[in-house]
Amino acid sequence: MFAVRIKTDISIQHYTSTRSYEESHEMSALSQVIDDEHMVKITSNFKRLGERCYLENAGTTLYPQSLLVNVNEDLMNNVYMNPHSDKYTKDCIDQIRCLILKHFNTDPSNYTVVFTSGTTQSLKLILESFQFASNENDDPDTGSFVYLSDNHTSVLGLRELASDKNADVINITHDDFLTAVNSYQKKTMSWKHKMKNSNEANSLFVYPAQSNFNGYKYPIDCMDTIKSGCLNSHLKKNLCQINNNWYVLLDAASFVSTSGLDLAKTQPDYICMSFYKMFGYPTGLGALLVKNSSEDVLSQKKYFGGGTVDIVLSSENYHVKRKNLSERFEDGTSSFLSIIALKQCFDTMHRLIPRTVHDNVMDTISYHTFYLAKDLYYQLQELHHTNGNKAAILYMDSDFSDIKKQGAIVTFNLLREDGSYVGYSEFQHMADLFNVNVRTGCFCNSGSCQRHLMSTNKEMKEMYKAGHVCGDELDLVDGRPTGAIRVSFGYFNTFNDIDKLMTMICRCFVKAQIRRPKRIRNNHHSLLDSIKPNKIFNTITNLRKMLHNQDFINNIEEDLDYSPLDSKIIVKEAAIFPIKSCGAFKIRSSWKIGSKGFEYDREWMIIKDNGVCLTQKQNPKMCMIRPKIDLKQRIMTLHFKGKSPIAVSLDTMAYTKVKESSFCHTKVCTDTIHGYDCGDEVADWISEALEVSFLRLIRQSSSDNRLQKKKHDGDQKLLALSNQAQFLLINKATVRWLKDKILDPQFVDDIDLLTDRFRGNIIIDMEDELAERDWHKVIIGNQEFRVEGECPRCQMVCIDQQTGEKTVEPLRTISEQFGGKLRFGIYLSYLGPVDGTKDSVLKIYSAVKPITNDDNISR
Ligand SMILES: *Cc1c(COP(=O)(O)O)cnc(C)c1O
Repeated sequence: MFAVRIKTDISIQHYTSTRSYEESHEMSALSQVIDDEHMVKITSNFKRLGERCYLENAGTTLYPQSLLVNVNEDLMNNVYMNPHSDKYTKDCIDQIRCLILKHFNTDPSNYTVVFTSGTTQSLKLILESFQFASNENDDPDTGSFVYLSDNHTSVLGLRELASDKNADVINITHDDFLTAVNSYQKKTMSWKHKMKNSNEANSLFVYPAQSNFNGYKYPIDCMDTIKSGCLNSHLKKNLCQINNNWYVLLDAASFVSTSGLDLAKTQPDYICMSFYKMFGYPTGLGALLVKNSSEDVLSQKKYFGGGTVDIVLSSENYHVKRKNLSERFEDGTSSFLSIIALKQCFDTMHRLIPRTVHDNVMDTISYHTFYLAKDLYYQLQELHHTNGNKAAILYMDSDFSDIKKQGAIVTFNLLREDGSYVGYSEFQHMADLFNVNVRTGCFCNSGSCQRHLMSTNKEMKEMYKAGHVCGDELDLVDGRPTGAIRVSFGYFNTFNDIDKLMTMICRCFVKAQIRRPKRIRNNHHSLLDSIKPNKIFNTITNLRKMLHNQDFINNIEEDLDYSPLDSKIIVKEAAIFPIKSCGAFKIRSSWKIGSKGFEYDREWMIIKDNGVCLTQKQNPKMCMIRPKIDLKQRIMTLHFKGKSPIAVSLDTMAYTKVKESSFCHTKVCTDTIHGYDCGDEVADWISEALEVSFLRLIRQSSSDNRLQKKKHDGDQKLLALSNQAQFLLINKATVRWLKDKILDPQFVDDIDLLTDRFRGNIIIDMEDELAERDWHKVIIGNQEFRVEGECPRCQMVCIDQQTGEKTVEPLRTISEQFGGKLRFGIYLSYLGPVDGTKDSVLKIYSAVKPITNDDNISR
């Protein structure tokens, strides 16, 4: 019955879908379906992943290295031209249309392939050309556009086009759809196939073959059921007319990435897909498969472009579109080189993946990924806190008992010991730290998200009013989740990836030992435990302490001309970070405050050859580049262990201005920065130190006036390359408090080392921890600052600033203590000197006078 090639006599080698995975004997740590030899061959194509654990295959799968080699070779050895002028290229492309149809077990006599830029364009193309109205000349009836509520956002947008065409726009819920299909199938055992009647209106139903939210596979063996009117009662309920010809638009984008679609068994009228979801490469290419017998109602396409017409007059409104559907629908020149690459995509897939299941590559992928997802599903179900409470809440629509109903996706949220939710953005931060890629949020599927998180439309609107928008970090509103965590598997994933994910979950959120399901392990493939054991940690710490003392704390006291003040709160330390993401330069006595913060603070940055700013997140070794500023000689010297220091001038005259260049510096700060290039010598020095080729050191142009993102009504402040505000203030008492809370025996930082991780500009000390969070303004010595809020934290604080080693703490404890709010330290912006002082200078050991909202004195 079901469309995927699964026979009742399943001929899978060692297992059947009914037999649970514990029973199978030939298990390995790598896979339950693909043998180790093949699996090693597959993973060797993804060496670039290194320690990264990629579990975001529903977003895109990744291309195997050998695919690119083959594509390159093809393009280097052949001459491909514009298919409009070159018959050979056109023939190659038509050949690939056949390959695609063969992949879906059909041929050109049944289906036509239209190349598009992807699923979204395919969907739009159908709606643009679909004729809802009947063929009657006067006052024609118009059919309905019916969509499943649990569709991808790209489908929801179609209703705008449908209502323009006067179609009734109706949605149907997940449950109503399944009930309609199932009960209709039971009730009418021998329903007759309804013949198309061109005098009736046309209705279009669109739904996904597999949910991109949780991998649930909707029935696709029900085309005839839908065509014979199983949704008519739903139309009737919505007071729409029911004498319709039904057409089905199947969104197969998620389904075809890990499952085989057999168009000999089921024949939707229109099918949409994107190729990057199947192969990882090329992007920007998708297909629309049109059943030839359902082509006639695609008559309303308006636009025509290069190649799609038989005749067009430029001075008169006259054109005739081509008869051939793909020629008529592919406006302009197609992405012909990407289409050519598809040949290599299919070939590479067949070379890499064995035909273990049903002698079929896609079924092998399907089972392989299904077993992985099922393994994770069971582990999450079993996951409990020490007090017995459940640690995970799963958002699934199937229990993994049937591969026909479930794909390789697991969607969930984590719960704390007290039953409260872990926000998804907190989870995302910890996953980043562990090099685990998952998707968090609502995955462009608000229908499924609402259904599983049980939020009503009214609540969604309220959350929006409270400031929550798609894709932001507001993961909990009143303790309730606004999104979830999605893990999705591809053919190159193995059980080791699940172990890595579960290790991360247990270390960060559940104080429990993981009980891995019994699997026969291959020792030489243990990718596990990237976090170093205790012993190494201790030696690193000792080394670190030595470095720390030598480099920085040397004779601060002697240098100072401070007079001990009668203040309970004093500035203990000040530091600047001349190069963004690199080491600190600790200030010995005093430092000038400029228009953008401390002078020379984050004035430089390192960029990669693609113009993107390098950060510690990508390259933790950056913190080991230690800049020292010498104001007398007007140079900055850079130090790095094992290299002789190098000097760059503090004066921009020495540099060449980078013409027109602008650098994208983080994905959150979308503003661009203009700057000066500091030359080849220092560029090479940095490239060697960080072991990354073609790095450049860029000095921010003094004319570059970045403004702080507007939060206050008051004036905006100029910024250097720091992300959010001019200054970051850290309270040492809060650091001590945090240190006491960190119970992880592997975390051995002393207070100074822990403080360094927060990369503050101004480090104060006082008795009370956390007091700084209530401050409104602060006067330090004779300088006044305004508090701009708390500093959001990410995995950067988990990088030991002496060694570049990554640890789990202190982010885990910060998250635990602040209920998922990853904040530490406060931002300040400079208001100016007070009490008649002229100089804008901050001195170490100055008294700190906080002003809270309650005692806000006006000046
Ligand atoms: C990915 C996806 C889409 C959108 O595909 P694009 O490539 O972004 O156009 C639509 N529907 C489903 C089910 C998907 O998984």
